[in-house]
Amino acid sequence: METLNSSPNSRYKYLIVGGGMTADAAVKGIRSVDPVGDIGILSAESDAPYNRPPLSKGLWKGEPVESIWRGTAGPNVTLHLGRTAQVLKPVDKRVIDTENNSYTYEKLLIATGGSPRTLPFGSEHIIYYRTLADYKRLREWTEHGKKFAVIGGGFIGSEVTAALTTNGKEVAMIFPGADIGDRIYPHALAKFLTSFYTKKGVQLQAGEKVIGLEDLNNRLVVKTESGKEVLVDGVVAGIGIEPNVELAVAAKLKVENGIVVDDFLRTSHYDIYSAGDVAEFFSPALGKRMRVEHEDNANTMGHVAGRNMAGKAETYAHLPFFYSDLFELGYEAVGELDSRLETFSDWKEPNREGVIYYLRNGRVRGVLLWNVWGKVEAARQLIAEPGPLSADNLKGRIT
Ligand code: NAP
Repeated sequence: METLNSSPNSRYKYLIVGGGMTADAAVKGIRSVDPVGDIGILSAESDAPYNRPPLSKGLWKGEPVESIWRGTAGPNVTLHLGRTAQVLKPVDKRVIDTENNSYTYEKLLIATGGSPRTLPFGSEHIIYYRTLADYKRLREWTEHGKKFAVIGGGFIGSEVTAALTTNGKEVAMIFPGADIGDRIYPHALAKFLTSFYTKKGVQLQAGEKVIGLEDLNNRLVVKTESGKEVLVDGVVAGIGIEPNVELAVAAKLKVENGIVVDDFLRTSHYDIYSAGDVAEFFSPALGKRMRVEHEDNANTMGHVAGRNMAGKAETYAHLPFFYSDLFELGYEAVGELDSRLETFSDWKEPNREGVIYYLRNGRVRGVLLWNVWGKVEAARQLIAEPGPLSADNLKGRIT
């Protein structure tokens, strides 16, 4: 018989596995319905929940670290930090962590997020940028390092490159695509971004893969597939994440591209919910199942999951938005931003201010509000319109 470490405070009405923004939002959601029920959070991180976006944006522009805390702790809320859930037993309503501590629940939320994809070499020298600990480590490196390599041309790559460059560092940005964000932005805008970053002093190595890393007396040599070698003081990577579904898979919950949830964010097991980066839900606005790895989804979905765990039966019909900062440029966006779709760019000032519509079969699927603010709701309404819509009737629709 297995021996479990158990204490009276590890029996919870609500147990949340994962300690990110989704977990915090779920606590707030639970508390908006049930002011007293015991809540336990099991988090692999040693920090309490915090806002993640400032790690690659605000904290590099003078925002203090103290401003990122979510204030999750409260009456009858217990944070078990530095604990990784290893086993989920749905029938026993029990979670066991890697140190064999046991936690029971009435309702469980799996909000385990994702783990960075990694390269098959150099792990001790690369920061796979995701957590507050990663931010602190990179800050420390910047105190003595002058030149950095950033691997990846997605959200992390473009934001961390801008942050480091703005803080006086030389950056070599290396990514396999033809241009920065070429899977998201229309071709012309991705091309513009590439030249915009170059003018900011970033050494861009587009269409390149990193194949090795050599430690050279405190400096590092980054080697690329085409034979280039870049000498740097530190390497940061953002090459995507994989959803942390292992616990759910082992517990035989339904898992596809993420943990499958219904309209109420319930998994295939009645007492178990899932939300945030790890959860795959049906979006009524887009008419498809999807997984979203952005802040607004974590906040809104986490909140709804929390309310439903506490007895409500609310559907998650929200179409989440996301945003990014690229030096002095910035945007908000909603829906499907896929550069393979037909696009119509309605510029007020080319590449500086305007609205880009992504279309399929005469319907707007996504809207990129490039230096245009406060229009997310208008964009959502347009996505809901049956159409047919085209450049002719979209011009000037959102300004
Ligand atoms: P990401 O946005 O998916 O970008 C991944 C990038 O890595 C792409 O440029 C990809 O190139 C490249 N890549 C993939 N495999 C590679 C390899 N072996 N070597 C070099 N490059 C490779 O992911 P991320 O930037 O790592 O961000 C992680 C997560 O955090 C994402 O879910 C993102 O949505 C989220 N995040 C969001 C925000 C925001 O909302 N503003 C900010 C930061 C992070 P290809 O596209 O050519 O494959």
